[in-house]
Amino acid sequence: MIVTSRIKEIRRQVARLHAELPRNELVVWTAGNVSARVPGEDLLVIKPSGVRYDEITPENMVVTDFDGTLVEGDLSPSSDTAAHAYVYRHMPTVGGVVHTHSTYATAWSARGEAIPCVLTMIADEFGGEIPVGPFALIGDDSIGRGIVETLRGHRSPAVLMRNHGVFTIGRDAGAAVKAAVMCEDVARTVHISRQIGEPLPIGQADIDSLYARYQNVYGQEPVT
Ligand SMILES: [Zn+2]
Repeated sequence: MIVTSRIKEIRRQVARLHAELPRNELVVWTAGNVSARVPGEDLLVIKPSGVRYDEITPENMVVTDFDGTLVEGDLSPSSDTAAHAYVYRHMPTVGGVVHTHSTYATAWSARGEAIPCVLTMIADEFGGEIPVGPFALIGDDSIGRGIVETLRGHRSPAVLMRNHGVFTIGRDAGAAVKAAVMCEDVARTVHISRQIGEPLPIGQADIDSLYARYQNVYGQEPVT
């Protein structure tokens, strides 16, 4: 019963956070999704497959286990569920995962190029460059494995999966959405900067100090 009421609350949160994706111009049509871990359970709440953003409600969110098998809900889970589930299975501190094909960040991923740490905002939020993950096909564990293997060695909560798009993680789904919004914003700014010259790097000591300050001073407030 406790689990049921908790899941109801998470369904509401995940449905509400999906509205941030079109609002921040991170998605077109139905591509892109937010999920949240059900704390203490091997369960996650995610968008159903093929549902438009203006049709999303708490009731049509679906619950799956960490194999991506539907546990609760009337619709099929997002086709990206296996990747989200893999992340929860292997990164126990992650409470939320977001996937988008947001334009500028995905343009970097198409080149297989990490976004360099050339803005204080990148140091703050990502603690260094935003790394590139491997090329991986949908259908097995390879996307999830690529995300986990890349992010484990980084401070960054975002990975640019090569030729594909962005996955972000957070302590909760709100933090993962924030990382997705910021990733697209810095991808755009650094892209524009590069049109007329080479952006200047920030020294490692300054990156470390910016990251530590931001994560400690601003990292306390839950985004949602
Ligand atoms: Zn995708």
